[in-house]
Amino acid sequence: MNRPKWYRICAEYNKDPATGGSIGEVSLSVSDKVYCDSHTHSQHSHDGMEKVEDICAAAVRRGLAGIAITDHCDLYRGKSYCEGLKRRLFADIRRARDTFGDELAISAGIELGEPHQFLDLAAEITDDPELDFVIGSIHIMRGREDFYYVDYENVDLGAMYRQYYDELFELSECGFCDVIGHINYQIRYMDEKTRSRVDLSVYYPVLTEVLESAAKHGVGIEANTSGFPKGLDDTMPSFDVLGMFRSAGGEIVTSGSDAHTVGRVGERIPYAVGRIHEAGFEKFAFFKGRKPVFYDAS
Ligand SMILES: [Zn+2]
Ligand SMILES: [Zn+2]
Repeated sequence: MNRPKWYRICAEYNKDPATGGSIGEVSLSVSDKVYCDSHTHSQHSHDGMEKVEDICAAAVRRGLAGIAITDHCDLYRGKSYCEGLKRRLFADIRRARDTFGDELAISAGIELGEPHQFLDLAAEITDDPELDFVIGSIHIMRGREDFYYVDYENVDLGAMYRQYYDELFELSECGFCDVIGHINYQIRYMDEKTRSRVDLSVYYPVLTEVLESAAKHGVGIEANTSGFPKGLDDTMPSFDVLGMFRSAGGEIVTSGSDAHTVGRVGERIPYAVGRIHEAGFEKFAFFKGRKPVFYDAS
């Protein structure tokens, strides 16, 4: 990754949505810091619409040094779906590298859905030399519907979270993921009323086991900023969980917007990196060739 120049970070992404004011130390509109967005979706995701080249152009405009395109690779959709998705995505990424490669590191990633539920297929899909980065995510737990569709007013939240952490533990040790995606992101789908009833700290003992397992297996987590447009005021997972991961021996944290639109590429990444640093990490990670490359978070 070249970085001989000053990187521009759009001031609009550093504003507090409530007041319009700047957030802490990331209020500079010009920075020489390296920032990377390690979680974005293109038109190759079932819920995406943007071209890879448009995502990369936005990343360059906003001064990001690196971007990972991590399209949804939902294993329940089967092998041919997942292989076809990778082929189309990787072809676009090769073309984007020809165009933007001098100023932007482009990581070929996937967001692998429920690998712990499909171990054989996960092994096949991730055995791919072109793959730079794998986010392992849980969107649908065993015997349940997608978190997006859950009726949070009527579901047994305690049972839901206990199962979630059990499955996250399996995910942490399945061996196919570089980082665990958006821990605790269900909160993004809850309305204010339901959200205010949820005290996730009661599950911290079991979540600590997940984080210890991830650290032991060399798996990272991400600071995901997609909750901000939904009214959350923190990353997913929250700041305290980032600190718990550090205490558990974790070393790898990526920063990702989870953008499904060009407009959100890079959103709040400086804020996320600031929180990663405050939580005790000197560096944040960006993946190339399934290996973390570390950059200063301070
Ligand atoms: Zn996801
Ligand atoms: Zn995503």
